[in-house]
Amino acid sequence: MEQLASKITAWVQKNQEKYMRLSQQIWQYAELAFQETKSVQALTQLLEEEGFAVTAGLAGIPTAFSSSYGQGKPVIGILGEYDALPSLSQKAGCNHREELVPGGAGHGCGHNLLGVGSAAAAIAVKDYLQESGQEGTVIFYGCPAEENGSAKVYLSRDGVFRGLDAVFTWHPGSNNSIMGEHSLAAVSVVYRFHGRATHAAGQPHLGRSALDACELMNVGVNYLREHMIQEARIHYAYRDAGGAAPNVVQDHAALYYFIRSPKISQALELRDRVDNCARGAALMTGTTVEILPVDGMCDYLPNHVLSEVLQQSFEATGAPDFDETDRQIARSFQQQYPAAEVEAKVVAYGAKFGAEYTEMFRGKPLQDVVFPLRFPTTPLFGSTDVGDVSYVAPTAWLNAACYAIGTPGHSWQLAAQGGTSVGEKGMLAAAKAMAHAAVTVMQQPALLEKAKQEHQKTTGGRYVCAVPDEVKPHIEGDF
Ligand SMILES: [Zn+2]
Repeated sequence: MEQLASKITAWVQKNQEKYMRLSQQIWQYAELAFQETKSVQALTQLLEEEGFAVTAGLAGIPTAFSSSYGQGKPVIGILGEYDALPSLSQKAGCNHREELVPGGAGHGCGHNLLGVGSAAAAIAVKDYLQESGQEGTVIFYGCPAEENGSAKVYLSRDGVFRGLDAVFTWHPGSNNSIMGEHSLAAVSVVYRFHGRATHAAGQPHLGRSALDACELMNVGVNYLREHMIQEARIHYAYRDAGGAAPNVVQDHAALYYFIRSPKISQALELRDRVDNCARGAALMTGTTVEILPVDGMCDYLPNHVLSEVLQQSFEATGAPDFDETDRQIARSFQQQYPAAEVEAKVVAYGAKFGAEYTEMFRGKPLQDVVFPLRFPTTPLFGSTDVGDVSYVAPTAWLNAACYAIGTPGHSWQLAAQGGTSVGEKGMLAAAKAMAHAAVTVMQQPALLEKAKQEHQKTTGGRYVCAVPDEVKPHIEGDF
């Protein structure tokens, strides 16, 4: 274990300058969903230079790719992302709002680090395969459009991850831990109502209001909320309110719904009930409704066997090696966050990982130990397209500290720190831990067999994509 950890560390370190430069480059590109061409080019160039064979355009998505090294079994997948978020352009390290590109996109979720960290892990696994001469394959998956588009769902539906023995992934965060929670499954649907327009005062009896149908549907769903499981969530937005004129009966209107539940099967059942609210509203108003599935994500299933391996690997390779400069950068951001929010974070550490961690990190800008492994029963109240991958193959996920404790997700503060040494150190720590875990399971096929048995048990060997085949990859807002 120790020996492997020092080898992996050396393999990652020898390219470390290159990885930091590349993450800076992708941070500057800050390309939005499905437009990540420059980021993909930079990553494929790196992987090709390292001897990986690249396959571009997976599942018909131009910015999705795989790159593999080695041959035969076992086959280990490592997931990377590289899409940015709109309107979050921010100067690196700058703790007050100053855009780098006015109105531009920014890496407010740290995916510049995510892509490069995962590629660095895959390259260290390649170094191992080369040195040991062992049979085995490592595949880096370039997964675009995580923020808006859920590309991994379409890649999963297309069979891209089928047959993998294990999958490792990570996400930049403000602490170092293994993701032991389930996430919520989510299904999203557009309900488009069609009615008949008339003069609202002159011939109201001839009008059939699509807007009324939307309102009645929302009322129906409000009552439905009383009779669903605690962990389920339903939210909606108006996509079309029928127009601006009150004196015209609105003949078109549309709602966009997100329906979430702990299991994808529960989300789909709940969706049927929401569909019925839409049909009921159409019946009541004499309108018609089109039900258009937009997207769907399975719940994330943490594979316990692989999560334990990843935990041990993370402990062996270590948390990010932050220095005083990094702490100063992080502190300059943290000082501006509401004190209650920072306190809530450290209290949550205590509740989840052990009371001593609240004390350990109270007043500290950066979390710099690996938290113990936990598998909470309460789900994470959010959804991720890694969920679908976890239904196809045994999957484990780690979070590495890349920004100050208390940093809000999807924020310019996060974008700013992801372009500094704080983010880079988190990225390098993640790369080492994932490479160590991948090599460990390659060396111990019995672990992969156990992971597979667990996966079979939790999924029943079944993966059903919640997005119907006719729905092609798209930006959700464009629907
Ligand atoms: Zn993200």
